[in-house]
Amino acid sequence: MKLRCPCGAMIPDVTDAVPHKAHVIADKRWWRFWDDIDAALEAAAQGADPVQLSMQLRQGVAARFLWECRVCGRMLFDDPPEAVRSYQPEKVGPRVLK
Ligand SMILES: [Zn+2]
Repeated sequence: MKLRCPCGAMIPDVTDAVPHKAHVIADKRWWRFWDDIDAALEAAAQGADPVQLSMQLRQGVAARFLWECRVCGRMLFDDPPEAVRSYQPEKVGPRVLK
C-alpha cells in the first residue's frame, strides 16, 4: 500500500517493521489490551491452545495506523470509514517515528 501525503510525497507501506509507521491504541483501550494479555497468559498456564489465544489477542487489538511523512512531517492517521486524516506539525523538525 502507498499513501499520498497532502504535500505530494508518497508514503510506502509495503512490508512489516516500517520505520515511519506506528500502531496507536487509545488510552481507554490500552489497559484492556494488557488485561487481555494477562487473561491469555493465565489461560495458557491452564492449558489453553496458545495459537488460538494468540489469534484472539491479535484480533482484539484496537490499534489504528499512523504514518509520518518524511518530507513534511505530517502525521497521517487511519480514520475509518474516512480514508486518512492528516495533521501538520507547526514546524518540520526531527522525525518523531524512528
Ligand atoms: Zn508530506
